[in-house]
Amino acid sequence: MSRPHARLLASLALTAAAALLRAAPLPAAEHPIVIVIHGGAGVIERAHMTAEREASFRAGLSAALDAGYAVLERGGSSLDAVGAAIRTMEDDPQFNAGRGAVLNHDGMCELDAAIMDGAEGRAGAVAEVHHVKNPIDLARLVMDRSPHVLLVGPGAEEFALEQGVVLVPASYFITPERVRELEEAKRSAASRAPTAPLPIRPQAPKGMGTVGAVALDAQGRLAAGTSTGGITNKLYGRVGDTPLIGAGTYASESCAVSGTGQGEFYIRQVVAYDICAMVKYQHLSLAQAVDTMMHDKLKRTGGEGGVVALDRDGNYAMDFNSPGMHRGVRDSRGHREIAMYRDAN
Ligand code: ASP
Repeated sequence: MSRPHARLLASLALTAAAALLRAAPLPAAEHPIVIVIHGGAGVIERAHMTAEREASFRAGLSAALDAGYAVLERGGSSLDAVGAAIRTMEDDPQFNAGRGAVLNHDGMCELDAAIMDGAEGRAGAVAEVHHVKNPIDLARLVMDRSPHVLLVGPGAEEFALEQGVVLVPASYFITPERVRELEEAKRSAASRAPTAPLPIRPQAPKGMGTVGAVALDAQGRLAAGTSTGGITNKLYGRVGDTPLIGAGTYASESCAVSGTGQGEFYIRQVVAYDICAMVKYQHLSLAQAVDTMMHDKLKRTGGEGGVVALDRDGNYAMDFNSPGMHRGVRDSRGHREIAMYRDAN
């Protein structure tokens, strides 16, 4: 067993307190404060939803939205707000992030997350972690306390150990529903490719559940973050768009984006950065840039999913080309909305 692994496993008996950096309270300013979240895009349709399941998703989204907004309301930074919203959804097993993340082909959760500070252009990300309770917190620490942007696998977990973040046994993340989904995905992959030597191609999941947030704080600073277990039945070692800055997560001084969908398409299209580039260089409005990406550029390549996006004036977009997307927005102009389906609900 490698040294980092041995040390990591030894540490799992201990639950260290998460060492999260907190910004000092900020004085109130004139900027609107806004947070926009998503809890994944996919086949989210009324016909496939029970009343209990719908209520439970809405409650989960509500809790995350309000956790993030509370940070902004007390003068906290957009980075802390994004972290608070995402952490809430990572702890909620119905979303595909943290506990309740989807399983890879080997039946394990491999977690990816990223966060980006638009004001200063800093970013942190982790991929392939198996023991970090809240990967978004580790991504933040990579940004704040390491000279790097992306740490993966055992190296990321070694860094987590050094930083004293909460580590848990790999079994913590696994839920019976995700085990059932993996079995179903394997059955359907095998029936589609009965003669292939490795019938394990990941499928477009039915209900995705990756989580993300973008926020604008009272100082006018934008931030974006995303966290995921990836795609059911993915190959061991597969990394999606979520932790890749510019693909699933991006923030600048003027634009912040978090995506959810089939990551391979988001990577090839550099979705999050391209939306911000359309705003910056083509002077499109945020809504136009998001619309162009979701319903033209991404769709033409076959990519399915959605994004939440925000600009420095507080204009936001929550758009998708899949049947639905779990989403929510709350701002200081008094707007608060939670929705899941193609229509506004
Ligand atoms: N984008 C994620 C990934 O490919 C999955 C998702 O958003 O549902 O890893």
